[in-house]
Amino acid sequence: MKNIKDYNLEELKQELIDIGEKKFRAEQIFKWLYVEKIKSFDEMTNLSLELREKLKEQYTICNFGIIKKQESKDGTKKYLFDTLDGNAIETVLMQYHYGYSICVSSQIGCKMGCKFCASTGIKFARNLTSGEIVEQILAVEQDTGIKISNVVFMGIGEPLDNYDNVINAIHIINNPKGLNIGARHISISTSGLVPKIYQLADENIQCTLSISLHASNNKKRSEMMPVNNSYPIEELMKACKYYIEKTNRRISFEYALAKDSNDNLEDAKELTKLLKGMLCHVNLIPINKIENGVYTKATNTNILNFRDFLNEHRNCCYY
Ligand code: SF4
Repeated sequence: MKNIKDYNLEELKQELIDIGEKKFRAEQIFKWLYVEKIKSFDEMTNLSLELREKLKEQYTICNFGIIKKQESKDGTKKYLFDTLDGNAIETVLMQYHYGYSICVSSQIGCKMGCKFCASTGIKFARNLTSGEIVEQILAVEQDTGIKISNVVFMGIGEPLDNYDNVINAIHIINNPKGLNIGARHISISTSGLVPKIYQLADENIQCTLSISLHASNNKKRSEMMPVNNSYPIEELMKACKYYIEKTNRRISFEYALAKDSNDNLEDAKELTKLLKGMLCHVNLIPINKIENGVYTKATNTNILNFRDFLNEHRNCCYY
């Protein structure tokens, strides 16, 4: 059966028309799903009994169950959700001074094979549907009672490899009658799928683009990220410049510092040269060693030297 959360508002209006109902019912259903956050058609009390029965015959409402929940000292909550088909996905809730941010998964497993990423060990099973992406936000809001203000597509999966479902989920998340989270509070992180970056730039959605860069030359980047063999740095930078030109949005470059790999001053110099003149900032992240992984965290001295060099030459954030 079809998951009713897979439809954006315009699509839902069409679904209602197709089953012989008035399209304004779609707005009522949207409100029940995303404002009232109900879990069953029976709770949609301003719909006739007949319509509720009709909806039950054709659609389901996907509600994830929590398999596991872990909370760290800083309040970060990590959820493992049951996707109801024998798979599981991870979602993380973080609290910042500006509100609550959620890191959602876009796929079950990932095909990209980045050498430093724990998701590389998780075999790709399938794309998440738009409803399953949105459900991660709803399930966390239902569990905690809080209102999420920021969404980052940085969980398991390459969001641009599941392009249509991610864009559709953004339309639901962003709709004032849906979850009402502004596009500027939604961030998509990609390993660098160049054709999809061009496509995203042309969507006219004001979301933030994050690029997992991690190296500033092709040799080092291809060692860390096989995607670089298909879309080398020169092509990636061209696509990033196009994105900035079309959206006038600043790009975030993620750079995980790995010991004896990409963490020396020569790398910092090369990075500043690569990003010269671009509307962007760099997020430096200490790499987390994964099981059987070759990369380990850079020394504090190298991290600070790298950060200071970048700060002298351009904007940089260090987490
Ligand atoms: S694309 Fe993202 S999730 Fe996939 S392997 Fe690379 S870093 Fe991990």
